[in-house]
Amino acid sequence: MELPEIKVGFTTTKSVMTKSNGPLGGYAVNPYVGCSHACRYCYASFMKRFTGHTEEWGTFMDVKEWPAIKNPQKYAGQKVIIGTVTDGYNPLEETYGKTRKILEELKDSDADILICTKSDLVLRDLDLLKEINKNNRLTVSWSVNTLDESFKDDMDAAVSIERRLAAMKQVYDAGIRTVCFISPVFPGITEIEVIIERAKDQCDLVWLENLNLRGGFKKTIMDYIAEKHPDLLPLYDEIYNKKNRSYFEALEKKAEEIAGKYGCRFVDNETPYERVPQGHPTIVDYFYHEEVRGTANSGKRNKK
Ligand code: SF4
Repeated sequence: MELPEIKVGFTTTKSVMTKSNGPLGGYAVNPYVGCSHACRYCYASFMKRFTGHTEEWGTFMDVKEWPAIKNPQKYAGQKVIIGTVTDGYNPLEETYGKTRKILEELKDSDADILICTKSDLVLRDLDLLKEINKNNRLTVSWSVNTLDESFKDDMDAAVSIERRLAAMKQVYDAGIRTVCFISPVFPGITEIEVIIERAKDQCDLVWLENLNLRGGFKKTIMDYIAEKHPDLLPLYDEIYNKKNRSYFEALEKKAEEIAGKYGCRFVDNETPYERVPQGHPTIVDYFYHEEVRGTANSGKRNKK
């Protein structure tokens, strides 16, 4: 996918720290509105409604301004996730440095910071990240749901998978906990074992999340499958129209087997934040995690 033409705006907010309703609790931080990665499956595109934007998702971004955080210690021990509905390391960050700004503000907060990205611009801030990680409280996650660059190009305008994996390795080698976030898992396309095999020596965690087609992008993805992978259309119809879960149930079993094969811990819907021996990342099953209620870190799943 070509990098779309981006309309850049500016907006002021009272606080960049948003209390999160997600299962992990804590705070969500999005230094920008919108996201130039323009992923076709982006769940965050619903944000448009709240920001007055009518343009196509991925074609606009607002740079946020906020007053300096006066009491960073307020967030001590809290989970702070940077990049829930944007990527803080989108290309505008090179110019505006808003993600770097928030990291500097939270540097001594003792918060548990998680950065979610599809970029390698994070390497620009490696020295700062090492400083923040002095108490082992930082985690950096890259979304990698394929090793096939042409499928990646069909799906998003972020940097190549190889650049993401190279950044993951550098951050891992710097002593910072890393995540290979296999998300979203596309049925019949995402090969989880191939990805785990490629990333296992440079990550502490592998997170697995299924493709969810609830939003307005369901038609976009179904049309894409019909055009590029027509052989998979019956499978997608079973999963996304008939709500048949057998594919992902079988994949859960397969993930557990892969964990056994590589000597990895396999957990269900849990957020362990420890570093692990190289080559043995903890594999976390987040399939259908949106159904989980009040089990932030228990490893228990309340399936319907
Ligand atoms: S990187 Fe995340 S927020 Fe940005 S377009 Fe992709 S899915 Fe949406």
